Amino acid sequence: MYPSVNDRVSLHVPTLHVAEIELPPEISRLYDLAYNLWWTWTPKARELFARFDPRSWALYRNPVQLLIHVDRPEWQEKIEDGSFIALYSRIVNAFDRYMAGGDESWCATTHPDAAGPIAYFCMEFGLHQSLALYSGGLGILAGDHLKSASDLGIPLVGVGLLYRHGYFHQSVDADGRQQHFYPDHDFPRLPVRPAAGGTGRGVYVDVPLHDRVVKARVWVAEVGRVPLLLLDTDIPQNDSADRPITSMLYTPGREMRLAQEIVLGVGGTRALAALGFRPQAWHMNEGHSALLQFERLRPLLAAGESLEEAVAELRRNSVFTTHTPVPAGNEKFDDPLARKYFAPWCAEIGLDLDAWMRLGEEDHGAAGQPFNMTALAVRTSCRINGVSKINAGVSARMWSHVLPDSLPETERMRAITNGVHGPTWLGVELRELFAGWFGERWPEVLGGAGAREAIAAQPQEPLWEAHLAQKHRLARFLRARLRDQFARHGLSPDQLRAIERMFDPEALTIGFARRFATYKRADLVFSDLPRLRKLVADAARPVQIVLAGKAHPADKAGQELIQHLVQLTRSEQLEGRIFFVEDYDMRVGRILVGGVDVWLNTPRRPLEASGTSGMKAAMNGALNLSIADGWWPEAYNGRNGWVIGPEAGTATAGDEAALDREDAQALYQLLENEVVPAYYERDEQGVPRRWVARMQEAIATVTPAFSSDRMLREYFETAYLPLLDTAD
Ligand SMILES: *Cc1c(COP(=O)(O)O)cnc(C)c1O
Repeated sequence: MYPSVNDRVSLHVPTLHVAEIELPPEISRLYDLAYNLWWTWTPKARELFARFDPRSWALYRNPVQLLIHVDRPEWQEKIEDGSFIALYSRIVNAFDRYMAGGDESWCATTHPDAAGPIAYFCMEFGLHQSLALYSGGLGILAGDHLKSASDLGIPLVGVGLLYRHGYFHQSVDADGRQQHFYPDHDFPRLPVRPAAGGTGRGVYVDVPLHDRVVKARVWVAEVGRVPLLLLDTDIPQNDSADRPITSMLYTPGREMRLAQEIVLGVGGTRALAALGFRPQAWHMNEGHSALLQFERLRPLLAAGESLEEAVAELRRNSVFTTHTPVPAGNEKFDDPLARKYFAPWCAEIGLDLDAWMRLGEEDHGAAGQPFNMTALAVRTSCRINGVSKINAGVSARMWSHVLPDSLPETERMRAITNGVHGPTWLGVELRELFAGWFGERWPEVLGGAGAREAIAAQPQEPLWEAHLAQKHRLARFLRARLRDQFARHGLSPDQLRAIERMFDPEALTIGFARRFATYKRADLVFSDLPRLRKLVADAARPVQIVLAGKAHPADKAGQELIQHLVQLTRSEQLEGRIFFVEDYDMRVGRILVGGVDVWLNTPRRPLEASGTSGMKAAMNGALNLSIADGWWPEAYNGRNGWVIGPEAGTATAGDEAALDREDAQALYQLLENEVVPAYYERDEQGVPRRWVARMQEAIATVTPAFSSDRMLREYFETAYLPLLDTAD
């Protein structure tokens, strides 16, 4: 008998108590609140922590860190503060209602018989900036996936790695060069706890790695009602050379990367088993985790199945999502390296090594090819998804030789377009406005079919006011960040004081934040500097641009691009109108998407698999100004933003420089003739009526169609549900 979705207890993973935190009984539930990432999408819960200790909160934005820091006299003060205790009780009640509400959730009410759980594997998870287990879009998407699964009551359990040093923090020096700093996470200070085994000790799994066995400790991050299991090899039981396996996200060393992916796939599968989970569906989000299929083969082969039968068995309940529309971006390991690790496994279970290697080959037949993780995932899954309609088409062509012939063309690669978690990405002022308009059920109102009518029925002024308030929030944040940055570069007090007058909250503000991969063309809007200068320096109708983004430490071209742009922000022509915010993370992202008027996106077609930051911006009423790539052609309706260049452009072939010039022309024309005039067209009250109508259109079209709730419902109904046993 498998646990049913109604049996929420089945997903609960017991954890060890964290000794450092001892709270008096009056406020003891702060412990549960701190360790459940529900607070990351519940502003009132964050407010509670901020009131508990404003200084610690401002410093860390991490409630666990905060609870470790407080002294007894401070507790007493809070216990005696009636308004604090009232807020505390309200939040605890809301939390308890949320956690106990599984029976009324979407999943339990629409699919009461579906049993789980679904195992969801990813190399990175972006849940909050204080838990830096992500580098960018893929991880944040995975984090939003878990949050929506929790909100909808979908019985899902996440599996990932707990990185001691995570992903780097970025700063830029006075010359614009990117500097890398790796955080050193002290796990007991993060909102994660060790899983507790039967004996009240931790839970450890063995991972066979070449000639030895490495142990991984299992930690748990609670994401509302969904547990996320995180594996960690940095434990004394391991040889000191094996401890750093889970040190860095996307470690550059190929052999270390393979070791990580073995820990994720094989160790993750064993961790699920050790905790009593028997997944009914297995979802690989990108190819990094595909070695979980090897671990799943073991018992099938041991039971006497042929490799063919066993692979058919794996395929029956495996789901794979590919995010990478360029062959080079897909994970692969050179043949000798792959064989070094796979040979002992195959020998142990009597599997022919060549037959296994063929499951990861890119091209049929050729000898000595790398072992490709995407190919393995494709060959062992029955549901294969791209992350937008365009991306599914591109991926279907890219993997046509590997995709199962048995499926009809249209079924081989499906599109489940990405979505984002509204409660995480919506700015505070807009959220309060929506709650005031639509009550506590605002996410359902805006997520439903009636969103357009609901928004259109509301007055324009408060929406514009809320947007301006979020823009002022961005102004404060930006100035503080710039002051830190410029103080580090040695600017004088007078120069630092001048920052207070920088960034004009009244001016049309364009945001551009992304990974500085060259295909994203962050420099497109800078390609004709005199023309850009005319735009930004127009005294009556000024334009300003806020930039943010990291370049991978190994990506020299991306780093040069950052340097070039940072230098431009300081150039005489553009100074004071272009800003570079360091260390793009979820917090920077939230403040940017909430505060800008226009969200700019200029990738080379068709290389943007989906893109999600534009969805976050649109939910906040920003208008997308984007190349027709990734998700945008599915959302664009002529009234909710703009398309740069040809509307139906998918494949770009031929002269890249010429295409760049064409796109730049189109971008400048749109800015000059459409965007700037529209923004500055005001009525007597100073409200840009027609602009706000576009904002309403953006919110009403993007919120329902590009929320992670919609994405999860689609995954559940088309990919997971058909694979699940029903509990009758
Ligand atoms: C949303 C987000 C991303 C991904 O956005 P794209 O549009 O896919 O580039 C990357 N980093 C951060 C911090 C984000 O919030």
